[in-house]
Amino acid sequence: MFDQENAPLSDVSSEYRLPKNVTPRRYEIRLIPDLTQFTFAGEENVSIVVNAPTSDIVLNALELEIDRVSVERGKTSIAGKAELDAKKERAILHFDRALDAGEWTLHIAFRGILNDKLHGFYRSQYQDAAGKTHTVATTQFESTDARRAFPCWDEPELKASYKITLVVDQNLAAISNARVESEKPSTIKGKKEVVFAETMVMSTYLVAFIVGEFEATAPVDAGTPLRVVHVPGKENLSPFAKEIGAFSLKYFANYYGLPYPGDKVDLIAIPDFASGAMENLGAITFRETALLVDENTASRAELERVADVVSHENAHMWFGDLVTMKWWNGIWLNEAFATFMEMLAVDKWKPHWRRWDSFSVSRAAAMAVDGLKSTRSIEFTVNSPEDARAMFDVLTYEKGASVLRMLEQYMGEEEFRKGIAGYLKKHEYGNAETTDLWDALEASSHQPVRKMMDSWIFQPGFPIVRAEPSADGKGLKISQRRFFLLPDGTQNDQLWHVPLMIRAKTDRGVVNQKMVLTERETTVPLEGKVEWALLNEGGHGFYRVNYNPALLQSITQNLGALQPIERFGLVSDTWAATVAGLSPLSEFLKMARLFTGESDLNVWRALLGAFNYLDMIVSDEDRPALAAEIRRIAGPAFARLGWEPKPGDDELTRQLRGVLIANLGTVGDDREIQNKARQLYARWEDNPSLADRDIAPALVSILAYSGDAARYEEFKQKFKSARTPQEEQRYLFSLANFRDKALLHRTMQMSLDGEVRTQNAPYLMMSVLMNNVARYDAWDFIRSHWDEMTRKYPDNALPRMCEGVVSLLDKQEEVTKFFQEHRVRLGGKIIDQHLERLAIAVNFRRREGAKLAATLKGG
Ligand SMILES: [Zn+2]
Repeated sequence: MFDQENAPLSDVSSEYRLPKNVTPRRYEIRLIPDLTQFTFAGEENVSIVVNAPTSDIVLNALELEIDRVSVERGKTSIAGKAELDAKKERAILHFDRALDAGEWTLHIAFRGILNDKLHGFYRSQYQDAAGKTHTVATTQFESTDARRAFPCWDEPELKASYKITLVVDQNLAAISNARVESEKPSTIKGKKEVVFAETMVMSTYLVAFIVGEFEATAPVDAGTPLRVVHVPGKENLSPFAKEIGAFSLKYFANYYGLPYPGDKVDLIAIPDFASGAMENLGAITFRETALLVDENTASRAELERVADVVSHENAHMWFGDLVTMKWWNGIWLNEAFATFMEMLAVDKWKPHWRRWDSFSVSRAAAMAVDGLKSTRSIEFTVNSPEDARAMFDVLTYEKGASVLRMLEQYMGEEEFRKGIAGYLKKHEYGNAETTDLWDALEASSHQPVRKMMDSWIFQPGFPIVRAEPSADGKGLKISQRRFFLLPDGTQNDQLWHVPLMIRAKTDRGVVNQKMVLTERETTVPLEGKVEWALLNEGGHGFYRVNYNPALLQSITQNLGALQPIERFGLVSDTWAATVAGLSPLSEFLKMARLFTGESDLNVWRALLGAFNYLDMIVSDEDRPALAAEIRRIAGPAFARLGWEPKPGDDELTRQLRGVLIANLGTVGDDREIQNKARQLYARWEDNPSLADRDIAPALVSILAYSGDAARYEEFKQKFKSARTPQEEQRYLFSLANFRDKALLHRTMQMSLDGEVRTQNAPYLMMSVLMNNVARYDAWDFIRSHWDEMTRKYPDNALPRMCEGVVSLLDKQEEVTKFFQEHRVRLGGKIIDQHLERLAIAVNFRRREGAKLAATLKGG
């Protein structure tokens, strides 16, 4: 069904692909950044192979000036002229005569700017304790911004080795992908010349240079020396990252069966960073919140985030860096796999965090997008850089990782690992396609992996699997169809190869069944009268289950027989069916009340997620009734836990305490909780050592929610003087939680006036958009400052900010029209997805909104 004809997308030739008549082997690059003028000068000698005689060489260059060009071979030297094509992001080098086939050295002298858009070779600034501003120069090349730093063949398949030299001020640290080979005074006064060892062959997007007043920790042995690098004064925030960094790097070497391919690893915290982190070989860059953390004061959730991101980047050193996708359509596999490995490593490191269980929250987030008509298939044709950028979304990371996990669990963990190891060994230092991985996994497992995976990779959406007792009562009738959050009644005949893990209780005992559903419908005999049945045992499947009312009732009466992850699935699936209109809200609310005895963090996240959604659609008049319901459901769970941790509370329980408090004190509008939160906050301010790190974030959000102008001023100061990136983040985003319009207007203003880094500002605006007091004001603000935001914010963040429009239920038409007139510069469908989510919310409110208060009161 999804055979070969869909598969080899990387053969697509387009105006974005360079001609292959000349290819690079080795780059020797020398760069002199000027951190006061925000410019740089560079020279490169590229060993090239002329595959067919030519008098033109075409390569990528953008926002660069080219001063001199020549090619040399032996005693022959031919001067050339550069012609820049900004639209195609290319330089065409013309030579007076044709170059013969064979090896040449291409010499180019060039100049560029250290931009402030957080891509290419860019500048980042920070202030020290005395208020003095310092500048850092750093790089972010993925996907196609290496061309902003040096002229190059900027395609992942054109791998080469790099010999890099940075000429920098004496007092600055210089870091690149490989270790420092030599450092000596430069002939340029006041500067030094730092020469790095030659790298392995790799793609341009993985090259990195970082220059600034950085400090590095002493290296630890992670199979290779590993350090954490940061701006001065932050060493105390590095031990946690160092520990998980060393653990995960060793874990991966073992898992992959291959040693780390570079000669050192630096984990580098950059003050301004557009995404979370970037897997430059040996010089991994991070935004500070994803790397630097105070283990003693950060919440478990904040620590988990650091562990996740560090592991993710380390996983890429092999999967991505050593073996790389042929073309950008393969980004999804690169990212999906690193996400999968990140879970695996963190789960091994701290099993009691139950990382795969909490991954269910991410899986559900992917389903929330993949249940849209405007979703996309995981893999799709990528031509332009914009297309490539559109791949970095929840479908690539979370859905991609989910289907890999589903496959791994179906194949068996060791069979899967062997297949991965075989794939990496076969393609090391080279490039590969998605199908190469399936081939390797088929070889290790002797199972039809490709056929199964094609149904998940090349089709948009996912199935909802319906289950009901078979006619004789001794089995299950099971069927699949595509799940839509906004069904439009049209016929859809998509089918998936759905690995089903069934656990059922019959009058003969508990039965387990593993099978692949490939047809529309089938009957599964269970050899006994079915009492209850569960379809997605362990919760690894990327599908939703819809039980008929009788089965649903029998399951909810046996919640004790379900694992926490399975209860999570039950809540999450029932809620999705409610939003999609397959099941009335009253049923969900009835079910929610069965969970007052629930003690699992993730199940609560699913339940409270639903109530937060209701808070978005409920009328102001009915909001108190909704808050009362939240107190009624979450109150008893909190009462059992209390404010004080009990001996034996595990880390997830401690986090749950914080989550319940945060929700009760905000959407639950619980006055008692709010009062106690203020008291505790004051006490902990006086004596920080008393603070409970998992409750502290809840207190900040509650105090903001119920806070006045004085509190606003206080939190704003806390944001500015924060001691850790997490604290900075916490207080910054609290400024979007206040409920006074005037204060929220000040927050909006901050997103543009330079008080907030552009890496955070769009997300801050998104939070104001989601605040039901100021959402429409925030929308007006965005409309009137759209051009400025487009100019200032990093390209990847603007569409993320727009995600907040899902809350603008009263302005659906206006919002839709706005985006017709203001196209966001990004390939893909992300804006369409936001608009469809808005339509879903509007529909849901139309269907259930009027009845909501009555349902809550009547329950
Ligand atoms: Zn990644």
